[in-house]
Amino acid sequence: MSAEAMNKTGAMNKTGTMNKTGTMDRLELKALISATADTIAAHAEELTTLDQAIGDGDHGLNMKRGFEAVRAEADKFAAKPLPDALTAIGTKLVMTVGGASGPLFGTLFMALGKEISPEPDRANLATAFGKAIEAVAARGKSQVGQKTMLDVLQPVHEALAEGKTPAEIVAVADRAADATVPMKALRGRASFLGDRSIGHMDAGARSTALLVRAVAETIEGRA
Ligand code: ADP
Ligand code: MG
Repeated sequence: MSAEAMNKTGAMNKTGTMNKTGTMDRLELKALISATADTIAAHAEELTTLDQAIGDGDHGLNMKRGFEAVRAEADKFAAKPLPDALTAIGTKLVMTVGGASGPLFGTLFMALGKEISPEPDRANLATAFGKAIEAVAARGKSQVGQKTMLDVLQPVHEALAEGKTPAEIVAVADRAADATVPMKALRGRASFLGDRSIGHMDAGARSTALLVRAVAETIEGRA
């Protein structure tokens, strides 16, 4: 979110991003759900192509199935306070995405729901996001540098904690996804290829960067 999107208490309010009871505005969460589902749908083929190069080619379909399932129940999620909504979205992603990425993206959203406050300021958002990334790393027994979604999540977390603008955070995410190209995969299916995984972008890193862009642009556009 931009500095202008913060009110004096640091909450994302000013223009009604949050309502008075501290739950995220129904329209805001619905906008985030449709923006994320839209970008995944628009890039499903690209994600499939990336996963075909060094995986099994299902990442685009997996993600599309999951984010369309979330979109189908957007009203139900949007009626909940933010922490509950994120937890429910994470659960839905675990049930619908499948593959290795389903439990990992699901864990990201569920842990975010557990850690975030109903009316998060940037500090809470950054802390909650950091803990959610730790939960993903624990679930995946993975760490930064292994050519996975973590290689985008972690720099995005740092940019968020440093107070970077949404546009800067989007640029960080895109650069981080690009930076997985020369890496050798040490986790997930791509790791079976050893050195042959070098020279291709990680599909989960790309989908993470797409989600970051959709969220950042939606929040900035509505601020
Ligand atoms: P699968 O590999 O089961 O076919 P997907 O194709 O949907 O599942 O997702 C693959 C993506 O999941 C990878 O590109 C990578 O970013 C991510 N991934 C796989 N294993 C791990 C792990 N152990 N830790 C973090 N991310 C992982
Ligand atoms: Mg796959």
